Amino acid sequence: MELPFAESYKIKVVESIRRSTREERENWIREAQYNLFQLKSDQIFIDLLTDSGTGAMSDIQWGGIMTGDESYAGASSYYKLKDAITDITGFPYFLPTHQGRAAENVLFSALIKEGDVIPGNSHFDTTKGHIEFRSAVAVDCTIDEAFDTTLSHPFKGNVDLGKLEDVLKKSGDKVPFIILTLTNNSAGGQPVSLENMHQVRKLADIYNKPVLFDSARFAENAYFIKIREPVYQDQSIREIVEEIFSCADMMTMSCKKDAIASMGGFIAMRDPELFRQCSMFNIMFEGYITYGGMSGRDMNAVAQGLYEGIDFDYLETRIKQVEYLGNRLLDFNIPLQQPIGGHAIFIDAKRFFPHIPKEEFPAQTLAIQLYLEAGVRGVEIGTLLADRDPVTRENRFPVLDMMRLAVPRRVYTNNHMDVVAVGLKNVFDRREEIKSGLRITREAPIMRHFTVELEPA
Ligand SMILES: *Cc1c(COP(=O)(O)O)cnc(C)c1O
Repeated sequence: MELPFAESYKIKVVESIRRSTREERENWIREAQYNLFQLKSDQIFIDLLTDSGTGAMSDIQWGGIMTGDESYAGASSYYKLKDAITDITGFPYFLPTHQGRAAENVLFSALIKEGDVIPGNSHFDTTKGHIEFRSAVAVDCTIDEAFDTTLSHPFKGNVDLGKLEDVLKKSGDKVPFIILTLTNNSAGGQPVSLENMHQVRKLADIYNKPVLFDSARFAENAYFIKIREPVYQDQSIREIVEEIFSCADMMTMSCKKDAIASMGGFIAMRDPELFRQCSMFNIMFEGYITYGGMSGRDMNAVAQGLYEGIDFDYLETRIKQVEYLGNRLLDFNIPLQQPIGGHAIFIDAKRFFPHIPKEEFPAQTLAIQLYLEAGVRGVEIGTLLADRDPVTRENRFPVLDMMRLAVPRRVYTNNHMDVVAVGLKNVFDRREEIKSGLRITREAPIMRHFTVELEPA
């Protein structure tokens, strides 16, 4: 008999979590104005809000926490991180920042001006926020296949080269760089193929544009390349990662994702002049260039986490768990983005609740229902997240209105995944009894989803 698959680690430290009653949850969610960000963590049983900063660190990472060098300038922890980044990505220059969006803030301060146009595959919400905050425009050039959740395509994160070239032709002089998000979070944690990265690189060279990789999940992307892109099946994750970054001029990183740390980010690049410009903004916004908002202990944890994050056995354990949850949901006929992505399951709320109008936020409604049913917290990736159009102030209705269930790294067992799956099945079985959604009572002008207040419609 073939031995079954099992995790590539064992558990050394645990944290208690508590179940609650439906009645308790009904009160808590009302007090939270139907915004799951406003709940207290002890009001949640299984928290799939995000895979960001929620991973379980290894014994070696915790060891690094104890040996962090907290010198203001030139700390050994800084050099340890610098060596890890250069070793793994090949970029010679790097600046630490406190997290990924801070990396965007620093880099975009040097590169983006009013009226600029930044094409790429689906921009992450903070990336888009930092672009629009500078009165520039993010243009989504993702392939059309990504917007049909019923279509299976191995690389739904890919850029449509025709769409990208149109933007470069039409507004070429306004394009400071092209951005690729690995994996494409907004499209469902979908990877970009190396073939597509090379094609984007070629086009960028023709139009003389630098390429930025938003690299939060570069290791998960590399895993999918190994598994799904036949020419790379015999290459190691290390080799694939090296080839990925050979296609880019610069990267931003949220270390809260594939570096499996609680906090941290960085920018890395090849151009020494860009490094000098960014250093100035880094000192203003983040901290001196050898810590940039991170403590020495965090830099140690990130340096180690970067290596653990590209370990094949770890990646296989992680992605197979997400797949396990996805397959259970598919067995219950629950509509979700396929193929199953790297860090999360994306439930297609338009197909789950076809009778709830888009103006009543079907995906947010679903996330609330799942919380009430099972104490599981997911998150809306849809109309609330899309914000209003900055010019017309009308709601933007994205093609996909999804509820994301993001799985933290090395945290939950498949028993927890079973609770999530059955909880969602129970909501699905009585979906027709849930007749209406939600309406907004209060919202912020930008990135409203974090603080929006809602009530039943
Ligand atoms: C999380 C994330 C960011 C922002 O990083 P933070 O550490 O949350 O500030 C940027 N891009 C992508 C693709 C991300 O997933």
